[in-house]
Amino acid sequence: MQSETYIDQEQNTKIIATVGPASNSYETLLELVQAGVDVFRLNFSHGVHEQHGQVIKHIKRINKEHKIHIGILADLSGPKLRIGEVQEDTYLEEGNEIEIVNTPCIGNEKRVYMNYEGFASDVSPGEKVLVDDGKLVLEVVETNSKDRVKLKVKFGGKLSSRKGVNLPDTPTSLPSLTEKDLEDLEYILTQPVNWIALSFVRSHHDIIDLRERIEKVGHHAKIIAKIEKPSAVKNITKIIKQTDGIMIARGDLGVEVPIEMLPSIQKEIIRKCIHYSRTVIVATQMMESMITAPSPTRAEVTDVANAVLDGTDAVMLSAETAMGRHPARVVNAMTRILNEAEKQYVKIPQKRPKASSKSPTFYSDVICINAAKTAEDIGATAIIGLTVSGYTAFKTSSYRPNTRIYIFSEEPNILATLNLVWGVRCYYYDKYTSTDETIEDVVHILKEDGKVKEGDFVVNTGSMPLHKKLRTNMLKITKVD
Ligand code: PGA
Ligand code: MN
Repeated sequence: MQSETYIDQEQNTKIIATVGPASNSYETLLELVQAGVDVFRLNFSHGVHEQHGQVIKHIKRINKEHKIHIGILADLSGPKLRIGEVQEDTYLEEGNEIEIVNTPCIGNEKRVYMNYEGFASDVSPGEKVLVDDGKLVLEVVETNSKDRVKLKVKFGGKLSSRKGVNLPDTPTSLPSLTEKDLEDLEYILTQPVNWIALSFVRSHHDIIDLRERIEKVGHHAKIIAKIEKPSAVKNITKIIKQTDGIMIARGDLGVEVPIEMLPSIQKEIIRKCIHYSRTVIVATQMMESMITAPSPTRAEVTDVANAVLDGTDAVMLSAETAMGRHPARVVNAMTRILNEAEKQYVKIPQKRPKASSKSPTFYSDVICINAAKTAEDIGATAIIGLTVSGYTAFKTSSYRPNTRIYIFSEEPNILATLNLVWGVRCYYYDKYTSTDETIEDVVHILKEDGKVKEGDFVVNTGSMPLHKKLRTNMLKITKVD
């Protein structure tokens, strides 16, 4: 039962690392876990199913061998637009005109293919088309509403094959799950993944659709909505209510909205996620320079620390760990930044969530929030929760207490899911005999593990009577003996 102490993550803010060629071996994955990774992201925009499956096996092995609960997040590409192949040395000159067509061809400076059948009918003159992370800016001149769109080059440069396209102004008619996504999803739902992220979410309907597909096969995965379109920012409250988690996907978001909006959007989304007890992730370019450099820039250190001070659940690494030069070094640096920033976070007055009497979970919400408050008031060293669904963990964490949260569950999948949640540390526990005994047991496990010591006070939450497995309805102060 006791976890290996050398993989003993102490920070409240969690780290997600994207797996790629630089990190997909068992040895490197383990190194990253030791450096502080809590959740691995499998990016389905790259790689084949077999490779992802191998990584999943490695992570499961690490969890088993070290009695930990590293989570797995599968990230679906969503309706990501791309141009087709183009001839080498294609260069778009400012002021020139170019056509985008919907039948595949080898592109050049006159004509290029894009993987979006309905583009000509959805787009209108004056709208912007951004290529290669906004490095090239085109503007629509005219469309034949069928298969050809004429554009003017506003900001030119080199055009290479298969670069991404962003259409910030165009209401696209693309489905939220493409054919590729449906194939990927079919595979993902055969795997023990904990979170499924959906790219380019536009409205809460995209989440409802994905959830139906997950529930239809009885899979336990929770959903992350990636916010990277202006329409998602506009519909954010509805999306937050519908989803389990949010990713502030600053890469594409920074292309689709005026880039100076990013800091305020980040702060507003994190605030709302905490209010609604949803898990929130800050992603992209957090430690970008460390793809090659040995240490982060001042701006990157400050950015990661500010995400902590905003109260995010997790920070994410993309290319830094997927294809960077030294993934473990990046995670190490990030862990150090998190630890330092968290010392400041506790000094910041926070707006804490209140339980709503209109909510069907009102009474258990009151217990969870008051467990966090009580723990702070009495200077407890731990809040200890028992959960079947994970709900207690999300709710208690959303108070962002200055007390460690330890969650016990007999559901290994739930434990790995909760590993993404701010401040939550997970333990497997399946001996539900009586409430008295269980409380003694879980406190004893934490004492054995060095988390609490004799004379400490802890706050327990749970559900009585135990065998009925009701929602959390009990709050108790326990002195460790
Ligand atoms: P991606 O999403 O890495 O899948 O593009 C993150 C982002 O856009 O920031
Ligand atoms: Mn993206």
